[in-house]
Amino acid sequence: MESKTAALAHEGAPAANEAAAPSAPGEAQRAGPFPMRSPGGGEPRDEVAETAAGAVRELVARARAAQAAWAEVPVGERAELIAGVKKRLLARAEEIAALVHRECGKPIEEAALAEVLPNADLVDYWTSSIEELLDESPVDLDPLAYPGKTGRIRREPRGVVALITPWNYPVAIPLRTLVPALLAGNAVVFKPSEVAPRSGALVASLFEGLLPDGVLSVAQGGGDVGAALVEAGVDLVVFTGSVAAGKKIAVACAERLVPTSLELGGKDSAIVLGDCDLERAARGVVWGAFTNAGQSCASIERVYVEQAIADRFITRAVALTRELRPGVDVGEMTTARQAAIVRRHLEAAVDAGAEILAGGAPPEGSLAFPPTVLRVAHEDTPLLQEETFGPVLPIVVVKDAEEAIARTNASRFALTTSLWTRRHARAHALARRLRSGVVTINNHGFTGALPAAPWTGVGDSGSGVTSSPHALAALTRPRFVLDDRSRAKRELWWYPYTPALRALAFAMARARGGAGLFGRVRALVELAAALSRRLFGR
Ligand code: NAD
Repeated sequence: MESKTAALAHEGAPAANEAAAPSAPGEAQRAGPFPMRSPGGGEPRDEVAETAAGAVRELVARARAAQAAWAEVPVGERAELIAGVKKRLLARAEEIAALVHRECGKPIEEAALAEVLPNADLVDYWTSSIEELLDESPVDLDPLAYPGKTGRIRREPRGVVALITPWNYPVAIPLRTLVPALLAGNAVVFKPSEVAPRSGALVASLFEGLLPDGVLSVAQGGGDVGAALVEAGVDLVVFTGSVAAGKKIAVACAERLVPTSLELGGKDSAIVLGDCDLERAARGVVWGAFTNAGQSCASIERVYVEQAIADRFITRAVALTRELRPGVDVGEMTTARQAAIVRRHLEAAVDAGAEILAGGAPPEGSLAFPPTVLRVAHEDTPLLQEETFGPVLPIVVVKDAEEAIARTNASRFALTTSLWTRRHARAHALARRLRSGVVTINNHGFTGALPAAPWTGVGDSGSGVTSSPHALAALTRPRFVLDDRSRAKRELWWYPYTPALRALAFAMARARGGAGLFGRVRALVELAAALSRRLFGR
C-alpha cells in the first residue's frame, strides 16, 4: 500500500457543520491533515501515515477478495472471533481513554464512559444475538394458491462496506458499525476522521489477528480519501458526519446506485414542562448540553422551557453551569475551526439581543470555550437554526408544550428530543407528535450507547440507523429463496394463455371482493368451471 507521512497543514480538516469555515488564529500552529498537537496544552503527537487516494482502490479490491471466504465462515465462528474484541477493549480502557483525551480533548472520565464501557455491551449484544438475527425466516404462502411451495428469507452481507466516521466519538462510532457489519459477513474499509486518526488506528488494532487478511482495513486521510473510497466500487457506504459531506456522499452514491446509511447533524431540543422535577431537568439539560464540550450530534442545542417555571429553571441551570470546572468537567473544543463557528453563532445571537447568563466566548483562537448559557428571544438566529456543535446552551421561554413542539418540529434537523415532565402518559402522547428519530423522557442523548436501541434521525439529521436489529437492514440485504416441490407439470399462469385462463382470472377478481354478494357467489361457480377447464389443459 502506498502511503505518505502526514505532516501537512490542518486546513484540509472540514468543519462539523459547514463545507468551508474560516480558519481561526491558532490553527496554523496545529500541523497536519492529522493535527499534530493535542487540543489541551498542545503537546505534540505521533505522526500518522496517510493513505494515498490512489491506494484506496487496492484496499477495496483486497477487501472484496477476502469477503467471500469470510462470509462462508459460519456466523457462530465469526461471533466467537469478534467476541475477543470485548476483552481487548476493557483491558486497554485506560490507554483508549488517554488517547481520546489527547487527540480530542475529551475528559478522561467521559472517554472511559462513552468510548469504552458501552462498547463492551455492544460486542456482547451483537455476538450473542447475531446468529438469531441472521437466521433464515420462513414466508407464509397460501397452500391453495401456491401448492408445494415454501419460501425462506436469508440475510446476506452487502459485500464491501465503506465506513467513514467523524472525530467526536472516534472509538464508539466506528465500533457501532464495525462489529455488526463484520459479524454479518461483510468486509470493511474504514476511514476514520483525519482529526482523530490515531483513535481510528487503535479501533482497527482491536481486531488484529482475529480476522482474515483484508477483511478489515484502514484508509487514513481527509475528505479526499473518503471521496476516493466512496468511488472505489464498494457495496454500501455507512457515513456519520456533517450534512455538507453527507450530501456529497449521497450524490456520489446515487450516481453509482450504491446504498448509503447517513447519520448527520443535530439541533436537539429539550422541552422542559412546568410539572417537571426541576432539579433533575436542570442537571440533565446541563449535562446534555455540555458533555463532550457540546460536540455531540445529540447535544442539547435548544431548550424550550414553559413560562410557568422558566425563571426557576434558568436560575438553576445557570448556577449548575457556573459550577462546571474547565478541563475537568468540560474539555477543550477539538478543532479551532469548530470553535470559530461557535463564536460566530454566539456573536450573532448576542447582536440580535440574546442575553449571556453564564460563560461567553474565550479570547480569539482559544479552544477553551467556557460552557455558556443564553436567554434567546428570537428563533431566527444561526444559534437556533444551524448546528452549533459547541458548549452553548440557548434557552427560549415558551407559552406551553404546544409552542415547544411546534418550535422543535420546525427545525430541519431532527435527531433526538427530550421531554422533561412528571406526567408520563402525557409525555408519551407528546412524543408521538415530535418529528424526531429518538425521544427521551426525563433523560437526554445517552441512548446512543444502547446497542439494542435504534439511533436514527429525520430530515437533515439523515436517515441511517445505527444499533438494534434495524441497523442490519442496511448492513445486509434480504435474499428470498423459493423451493417448489409441486409435481404439477405446469403452473396455472404459465403458457398458453387461453380463454379459460382469462375467465379464471376475472372470476377470481370478482370472488375476492370485486363484486357484491350475489356476484361473488356467481364468480365462485365460474371459477370452478374455469379452473377445471384450465386443469385439463385448456
Ligand atoms: P465531517 O463531515 O467533516 O467528516 C466526517 C468524515 O467524513 C471524516 O472522516 C471526513 O474525512 C469525511 N469526509 C469529509 N468530506 C467527505 C467527502 N466529500 N466524501 C467522503 N468523506 C468525506 O464531520 P466531522 O466534523 O468529522 O463530525 C461532526 C459532524 O458529525 C457533526 O455534524 C455531527 O452532528 C455529526 N455526527 C452525527 C452523528 C449521528 O449519529 N447522527 C454522530 C456523530 C457526529
